[in-house]
Amino acid sequence: MKLIFATQNENKVREIESELDGNFELLSLKSFGFTDDIPENSDTLEGNALEKARFVYGRFHHNTLSDDTGLEVESLNGEPGIYSARYAGNSKDPEANMEKLLHKLKGKENRKARFRTIIALIINGDEHLFEGIVEGEITLHRSGAKGFGYDPVFRPDGYKTTFAEMSMDEKNKISHRARALRKLILFLNGLETE
Ligand code: IMP
Repeated sequence: MKLIFATQNENKVREIESELDGNFELLSLKSFGFTDDIPENSDTLEGNALEKARFVYGRFHHNTLSDDTGLEVESLNGEPGIYSARYAGNSKDPEANMEKLLHKLKGKENRKARFRTIIALIINGDEHLFEGIVEGEITLHRSGAKGFGYDPVFRPDGYKTTFAEMSMDEKNKISHRARALRKLILFLNGLETE
């Protein structure tokens, strides 16, 4: 079965494709010559994931999946949430985003946070959502150089290190994206046996 992944991020296409068995082929938007931005106007992760999948499904009439992720900090009422990528401005600078976050949390005792990923799948016109969450806290300072985004300031519960100090394999065992992805894969593999 062929699925389009509604993203312009080729790394994500490869990451998810490597987890799917040989019965699924993931098509990037690039392979259709489509390089425009996909609209994302919702105020929830679920809404954005669905909007992206519906947009691509409407355009190409082909089974589609999409994802949306946010970092949700409890004492900031769920900020940065859907604004995670551009928290400190449109340049999407991860250093500036972390700086802003650490500044906003200065003096706050509650540093609880979670990453949440929503994967939307539209298959034969039916819509499905899969959620993956990893709970943790925002550290006082940056540590580690691996990963991306907020990894240097996010320490998952039960671990002494931040995501940025973990190997990719270690992070992939517990990450929000991996958890949502595992649910998607169980669903897709179940379809094959129906
Ligand atoms: P996206 O929806 O996957 O593009 O994620 C939105 C933003 O959330 C990214 O630009 C990052 O700032 C942040 N983010 C998502 N996943 C991760 C992660 O695994 N580690 C750190 N930051 C992440």
